[in-house]
Amino acid sequence: MIQFTNTLTRAKQEFIPMEPGKVKMYCCGPTVYNFAHIGNLRTYIFEDTVRRMLEMNGFEVTHVMNITDVGHLESDADEGEDKMEKGAQREGISPWEIARKYEETFFNDLERLNIKRPTRTPRATEHVVQMIELIKKLEERGYTYTRPSGVYFDTSKFATYTELARLDLAGLQAGGGGRVDHNPDKRHPNDFALWVLNKPRHAMQWESPWGRGYPGWHIECSAMSMQYLGATFDIHCGGVDHIPVHNTNEIAQSEAATGCQFVRYWLHGEFLQMGESKMAKSADNFITLQTLVDEGYDPLAYRYLCLQAHYRSELKFSFESLDAATVGLRKVYATKAENDPLSSEQAFHDASEEVLAAINEDLGIPQAVGLLNRYSSYRLWTYFDAVMGLRFEERTQKAPETLPEDVAELARQRDAARKEKNWLLSDSIRQQLIELGYEVGDSPAGTTVKKRSL
Ligand SMILES: [Zn+2]
Repeated sequence: MIQFTNTLTRAKQEFIPMEPGKVKMYCCGPTVYNFAHIGNLRTYIFEDTVRRMLEMNGFEVTHVMNITDVGHLESDADEGEDKMEKGAQREGISPWEIARKYEETFFNDLERLNIKRPTRTPRATEHVVQMIELIKKLEERGYTYTRPSGVYFDTSKFATYTELARLDLAGLQAGGGGRVDHNPDKRHPNDFALWVLNKPRHAMQWESPWGRGYPGWHIECSAMSMQYLGATFDIHCGGVDHIPVHNTNEIAQSEAATGCQFVRYWLHGEFLQMGESKMAKSADNFITLQTLVDEGYDPLAYRYLCLQAHYRSELKFSFESLDAATVGLRKVYATKAENDPLSSEQAFHDASEEVLAAINEDLGIPQAVGLLNRYSSYRLWTYFDAVMGLRFEERTQKAPETLPEDVAELARQRDAARKEKNWLLSDSIRQQLIELGYEVGDSPAGTTVKKRSL
């Protein structure tokens, strides 16, 4: 049995897909105006483990993730600067070029973190027609009103608007709060733009029944998820920050248009904390995956760090914790194929049932990692790498432990020399290793040695 904590009910629920054996899953994707920071990437790692665990349980998963390449405003509530245009100004290229550039870096990050490429990654700019159709449907059903600044969704017409986020609208309006803006064109502070009008300087514009303009951000996810997954689908994932505005608005506009339930299970991943605050792109002081690589870290050590925190818990990031994850991952890769503690079929079967049960209980990946480390079985790690995604077999074949003993000893001596800042000695050992036919590198956990390919 698989259980997830469904944000709709705030309770653990058994997962039963609409169609036996198949899962339809949608995840909010990146706005491609800058590098993803490692906090964003934590969410994509979480979503990747959801997909992988479903596949391990035998489901065929259709995984859709949108690429937001239309500029929208910085705050979820339609305020602030346009992100794409800001990126374009920063780099002196067009918003279209910015979008393609950062889409590519995003996919490159996914690859380095061994995140499976979603089944489909539709771009917003290529689905404006579907968005216009959806807004027309909402207009026909009386859920919209048009102002000079745009077409708005009237949230007062959608009775269950506050359900997902358990919002207290009266409290929000009385208290001010970041969520509520004061656009005088809106009938209610929580109403949101479906189509933006009369922004002649905006670089991306399309014709529509309401005039030239561009779509609001929220409509994008409803239009593209329903295009590829149908009016109702099984799972929608995202970060917890999307609950009160973005996902709430997605539900309102989708269900208002179709009259049926939009999503059956909502799964939300918690933040990555940096010091006392959450990592945010708008702060301009965020850490990217490339930052970690430049510091000598293995991207999979970051993945391993994320696997050790439950998706519904905040994870505090520090370089100390990443160092510890690096050492931990090295130990995982040192698991030996010989003398496997689970060599009998019965023992392997029992242990794998135990690990799978941990994974299936609300995605208990940290518990599963704990069990895998306790069993320290090569067979078991190999089997569950389908969920963990640590490239276990590939890496263990190159692990330093498989090096000839004299080479491993030289690497240890070099680490000792470096620790004592004896650079002359560490350099001469490095030279010896190179002459023996090895490539020598440095990682936070010490010298890395790899047989040079001929
Ligand atoms: Zn979305």
